Amino acid sequence: MKTAIVCGAGGFIGGHLVKRLKEEGYWVRGVDLKEHEFGMHYADDFVLGDLRDPRVCEALFDRHIDEVYQLAADMGGAGYIFTGEHDAVVMHNSATINLNMVEAARLAKAGKIFYSSSACMYPEYNQMDPDNPKCSEDSAYPAMPDSEYGWEKLFSERLYLSYHRNWGMEVRVARFHNIFGPQGTWTGGREKAPAALCRKVAEAGNPGEIEIWGDGLQTRSFLYIDECVEAVRRLMESDFTGPVNIGSEEMVTINGLAELIADIAGKEISLRHVEGPQGVRGRNSDNALIYEKLGWKPTQSLRAGLEKTYAWIEEQVKAAEQV
Ligand code: NAD
Repeated sequence: MKTAIVCGAGGFIGGHLVKRLKEEGYWVRGVDLKEHEFGMHYADDFVLGDLRDPRVCEALFDRHIDEVYQLAADMGGAGYIFTGEHDAVVMHNSATINLNMVEAARLAKAGKIFYSSSACMYPEYNQMDPDNPKCSEDSAYPAMPDSEYGWEKLFSERLYLSYHRNWGMEVRVARFHNIFGPQGTWTGGREKAPAALCRKVAEAGNPGEIEIWGDGLQTRSFLYIDECVEAVRRLMESDFTGPVNIGSEEMVTINGLAELIADIAGKEISLRHVEGPQGVRGRNSDNALIYEKLGWKPTQSLRAGLEKTYAWIEEQVKAAEQV
């Protein structure tokens, strides 16, 4: 039986990844500061621990581990990472986790280690035009991410790649582009745009109105969680180190995303534009490299993923209203 550690197993992507690895027959140890809020408790062993503590990281390797998935990070949507208020903790916490985990995996001679970087590491100057952003893997340098979160991701990519070069560690690095789906953060300040807009639409009347940060003309692409997990597994099974984008090329404006969600909800929703943190003007995944190396591309539309996500968030909103 193959063994795996999933760091950040109490979080959104980690929770889904644990489930997938269990379905594939792995023995899985999850680790996180907190248990999964939405009931995804599939790990054989779940360690409640702080990965900023190197002793916690070392203790995870009490048996041979074939695969490590390092997803733990101090993270959130634009309301968390673009305000500037959390820069020091984001950089300190996430860098410490990565420094500890890669070293613990090396000392324990773990088989392979996966690191989840982010599209936020791409330079701002290539993402000023909402209709034509550039996010091919080779456009990362000269570096100029627009957030400290992005700089930490870039640093940690380089950390893992250094361990690969100097110590021969089997490393895989992916740059996620806006992953969304059920069982993710949908309220509280760390939620990302798809979940936040689903929540706002679910809470609105019909007809109703919701707030959009900025003019809503900024563009993004969004990848459904199951597609992300499939791509991660394919990357891990391949002999390609990366870094490689894992995202969708179906770019929409934030206004367009809100309208799509309103349509799914069957509500007449008007958009009120207010001041708020927004990030870059345009961003889209470039999937040429991952298609060439792994033959992977998303199989479903943004709408199909949003239908499942909206249904789940609507349930959460209704349950919260009854409390
Ligand atoms: P998430 O916040 O739901 O999960 C991250 C988990 O890490 C949380 O459960 C958190 O408790 C845990 N964690 C934080 N600090 C920890 C610590 N010191 N010790 C142990 N656990 C700790 O986020 P997610 O959306 O599942 O993202 C997973 C990874 O993917 C992150 O590294 C994130 O930066 C990256 N990523 C996500 C997206 C996205 O759209 N969701 C996009 C790009 C990159």
